[in-house]
Amino acid sequence: MYSERMFMNFRMLKEQVLDLVYPDALYCICCGKVIDSTRPYRLCNECRREIRWATGRTCRKCGKILSENNPGDICFSCREHAHIFDMGFTCCEYGQLPRSIVFALKYHGRTDIGRTVGMVMHDRMEALRRETGLMYDLIMPVPMHPEKERIRGYNQASVIGKHFARLEDMPFCPDVLLRSRNTAPLRGMTPEERRQILSGVMTLRNAEAIRNRDVLLIDDIYTTGATVDGAAEVLLAGGARQVYVLTFAAGADVVKSE
Ligand SMILES: [Zn+2]
Ligand SMILES: [Zn+2]
Repeated sequence: MYSERMFMNFRMLKEQVLDLVYPDALYCICCGKVIDSTRPYRLCNECRREIRWATGRTCRKCGKILSENNPGDICFSCREHAHIFDMGFTCCEYGQLPRSIVFALKYHGRTDIGRTVGMVMHDRMEALRRETGLMYDLIMPVPMHPEKERIRGYNQASVIGKHFARLEDMPFCPDVLLRSRNTAPLRGMTPEERRQILSGVMTLRNAEAIRNRDVLLIDDIYTTGATVDGAAEVLLAGGARQVYVLTFAAGADVVKSE
């Protein structure tokens, strides 16, 4: 279809224009301050320090940063809710600055930020490999419903995953899972409600690609884990051996007040 190709060309052009407007390491991706090219992750010193990076204790199940008042090795949320995925990891806590990074990538067309986030996640994975010897066979983004993706123009998890996979030098499989049902925004829903809504929304398109393989699922943020559980459910039923999850940012480890 010529219209689809035109759209693809437009997207490539837009990426090139973004590269000119936001070249690597010129402006802090959080506050927009001019930075020199030696700053890692295109962040100014202040913003980099402000972000709570996952360098200390993390939940051994979902990977979120453990709160100081949590003496255990598992987060408050994982104590109450079991997960379908095998193990999760994250790079930082979903505070104000990571939120602004994710929002720019998701809602303001800043696909160039996907490259930076991919770099952050690659460094996190390198550290995890050193610490735990973690291995996997292929990388897969959490899929977005095609209609939603058409409107946004891209799936941010796929943009991140593509850059991450290039750095990892591992196979990237964006078309194996399909989000076959669209869902309303999940903000404000309880973990149980999310789980019910997200069960059965994904379809496996190519079981051969994942049979007896360890899959690493990529997403921008981790909140309750209901989305990645929905994906893991389908992948494990389809024959995947292990399903790991790596996200850029995960919600704080807090006791639910309700
Ligand atoms: Zn900054
Ligand atoms: Zn957890």
